[in-house]
Amino acid sequence: MPLMSDGARSPDLADRAGTGDLHALRGRLTGGLVLPGDAEWDDARRAWNLAVDQRPVAVALVESVEDVVKVVEFAGEHGLRIAPQGTGHGASALAVLDGTILVKTSRLRGVEIDAGAARARIQAGALWEDVVVPAAEQGFVVLHGSSPDVGVVGYTLGGGMGWLARSRGLAANSVTAVELVTSEGKLVRLDSENEPDLFWAVRGGGGSFGVVTAIELELYPTPELYAGAMFWPLERAGEVLRSWREWTETVPHEVTSVGRIVHFPPLPDVPEPMRGQSFVIVEAVFVGSEADGNALVAQLRELDPAMDTFAAVAPTALQHLHMDPPHPVPGVGDGLFLERLPDEAIGAFVENADPPLVSLEIRQLGGAMASSAQDHGAVGTLDAGYVMFAVGMAPNPEIAAAVHEAVDRVKAALGPWASARTYFNFAERPIGGARLYPLKTYTFQRLRKIRATHDPAGMFVSNHPIPPAIAIDTARIASASLFADLPAAELEALAGAMGEAELDAGTEVVTVDESGSTVYVIEAGEAEVTGASGPLSVALGPGDTFGEIGLLLTAGKRTATVVARTPMKLLALSEPDFERIRGQIPGFERSLRSLGLERSSR
Ligand SMILES: Cc1cc2nc3c(=O)[nH]c(=O)nc-3n(C[C@H](O)[C@H](O)[C@H](O)COP(=O)(O)OP(=O)(O)OC[C@H]3O[C@@H](n4cnc5c(N)ncnc54)[C@H](O)[C@@H]3O)c2cc1C
Repeated sequence: MPLMSDGARSPDLADRAGTGDLHALRGRLTGGLVLPGDAEWDDARRAWNLAVDQRPVAVALVESVEDVVKVVEFAGEHGLRIAPQGTGHGASALAVLDGTILVKTSRLRGVEIDAGAARARIQAGALWEDVVVPAAEQGFVVLHGSSPDVGVVGYTLGGGMGWLARSRGLAANSVTAVELVTSEGKLVRLDSENEPDLFWAVRGGGGSFGVVTAIELELYPTPELYAGAMFWPLERAGEVLRSWREWTETVPHEVTSVGRIVHFPPLPDVPEPMRGQSFVIVEAVFVGSEADGNALVAQLRELDPAMDTFAAVAPTALQHLHMDPPHPVPGVGDGLFLERLPDEAIGAFVENADPPLVSLEIRQLGGAMASSAQDHGAVGTLDAGYVMFAVGMAPNPEIAAAVHEAVDRVKAALGPWASARTYFNFAERPIGGARLYPLKTYTFQRLRKIRATHDPAGMFVSNHPIPPAIAIDTARIASASLFADLPAAELEALAGAMGEAELDAGTEVVTVDESGSTVYVIEAGEAEVTGASGPLSVALGPGDTFGEIGLLLTAGKRTATVVARTPMKLLALSEPDFERIRGQIPGFERSLRSLGLERSSR
């Protein structure tokens, strides 16, 4: 919807921070502070996604770390919240900005390339094009996404899946350090040595933990690159996408590709051959030589495309391969992970790919995105086979509603093949954070606890916020028979380390085997246990405990999978948390030993 002038002052402003105070803050900043009623107000509050109508109490256009610190301190003193924003590409998933200062980092676009260390230090407001070009000049590539004007920080904090994702992995896992202003207004450098929990959390946990002022990324020597797109008439969508899917099953990790349907709008900035036309398109990047690339795409060429742009390319060309809009647009979209992409799923995708949707894409996952490593951040791995994203233009609320419905139709049609987890960066609607992470890894609970430690009052407003964990009462833990006899001090230690989890019916909770340390206490709901050779006659309910640590503690079974039969509420203790407090709960270790178990870390 078009932005409307917001001349009236938000009631929050009067409630929480007097006008005089905000004017005083304005005087203290090197950058600007724009308030409702100022001539620049509508420009300042505008997001890249023009369909989003942002109404914060003020917009801080920060120009230095000191500016960020001053705004955070001011928010702390006045009970205001802070929403950090680079470009506003991810603005549609943001909460309402009542009582919130929008901190725009767009004036902080400095990029330093350290060729010797193969690192780039990037200020918070930099766009990918600000990094891709100087990195290429010095012989490096970075793990950018499909669009040159997406912000490096927002993209990376949400995972970051780009053209080198199958060969090099997710951008979040290539971060070497983050500089961040905490809710206390302190600038901290996060890396594997300093504040490792927070460093882990921001790499996939999003903007819930502070205002990032700079990020340091690994650079990769520029390889040979062969890339391009093939276009066919829309009528061939089913056939082409099925062939593409078969092709994806054969290609090496050096190939990252997308199968998509695009209804190009009849707009002047769309190139002539595509303007107003609809196509099925395969785009791909191969890290390797032109000769090998030619051989790899030969199978697709046999489908006789109407246009074929594949060629050896410079790294800067990858920014334009996906033909994303070159300027802000009003958009409505959403995505989902697909476990598999059988012919029936392609049929459902094609059948629901009509306007008002403009682009529907399926990207192949796997490769480096699916291999785990100790030093990964909270994003970890993406285990699904493919990810889908559908989007349409939304110039007014009526069309926006129609696009939402069209997106819902595609998602529903693909439901049978969808994962429970959703990709952070392709979730353009507010979504419960638990859905963004794999359950078995306990990532969401760990993120909640880190948020509770570093931002207990919930100062930071982000797209897909991680809610702070709430303190667990020891009585809740003592209700589990395994912990009932623990001394009070040990129960306290466990309570401080445990988090809460809620599960939908049908969710596979954990595979019980001889490794790992995750432990769950059932508070409500029921689970059933599946052994390697089918269901066991074991049902778990409130008060029961189970875990990865070697058995179902209630049943003595050694290899089994626990599946939620009904919606469940659990208390959960993750492996890192257990490792942190294990010295304080010797009684738990003793109970395990009495059951014939030893804990082992993976
Ligand atoms: C056209 C288009 C193409 C895209 N292509 C890809 C793609 O190829 N791969 C992919 O993975 N994603 C892609 N995305 C999704 C994109 O990565 C997300 O929308 C991402 O959130 C954008 O980051 P941003 O900084 O530009 O946006 P913003 O809306 O400015 O930021 C999004 C969120 O990031 C956090 N954030 C931003 N800056 C800071 C900061 N300084 N400190 C703390 N938190 C901060 C905040 O929580 C904020 O709400 C695309 C999106 C669009 C619209």
